[in-house]
Amino acid sequence: MINGKSIGAVILAGGHGARMHSSVQKQYMLLGGRPLITYSLEAFDRSSADRLVLVVPQGETDYVRDHILPLCNLAREPLIAEGGKERYHSVYQGLKALGKCDYVLIHDGARPLVTDAIITRAIEGAVSHDACVIGMPVKDTIKMAGEDGCASETLDRSRLWQIQTPQAFSYALVREAYDRLMEEEALQHGVTDDAMVVEKLAHHPVRLVEGSYGNLKVTTPEDMILAEALLKV
Ligand code: C5P
Repeated sequence: MINGKSIGAVILAGGHGARMHSSVQKQYMLLGGRPLITYSLEAFDRSSADRLVLVVPQGETDYVRDHILPLCNLAREPLIAEGGKERYHSVYQGLKALGKCDYVLIHDGARPLVTDAIITRAIEGAVSHDACVIGMPVKDTIKMAGEDGCASETLDRSRLWQIQTPQAFSYALVREAYDRLMEEEALQHGVTDDAMVVEKLAHHPVRLVEGSYGNLKVTTPEDMILAEALLKV
């Protein structure tokens, strides 16, 4: 709760982490001796969010409730929702399970190094702009690839950001945009984050808010090594 406004958080762990090439699903892999998903859950539990929804893969609610949540140090139990095929399906299930609130934070459970300060900045961004994403200016030069495999264009690096999570919105705004997205399959192509949905379907500007280069998404095996190292900092 902030200034009488209710805040919900949807934490996504509904993917299968295929790029990790591991027999244990990414969200349950051990990082610093504890399942990866526990870090995001604890960070949002410490935040001023009033309600938490954890989105898990289809059929894994009992496993998470019985084997993962007991390993977390949480003040309150999150609701568990089951996700869908694509990330946006999982987000939609999470938004529906959360129900109406003033603001919602949507976070990839695969970003265990999110800090209290980043969550606070995301909430402030949502309150002041109704829509914001956490991100950082890119460090590398980014080129567009042509169909011939050669660089077709070099983008202006000074204006490029790599986008992270949490992404935070007025609940009504993001829910309306997602309702439309789910109604029209043609709109779903290439949707990789929530800000895109709000930009495209609600035509609402999304404020860029600084995160940190340490707020990495654990996707491939080398990210686990980096995350382990950053945890110790
Ligand atoms: O696949 P990607 O790296 O974009 O996944 C980002 C986050 O979304 C991860 O935390 C993953 O568990 C979640 N996700 C999900 N449901 C899916 C796909 C991904 O909750 N169907």
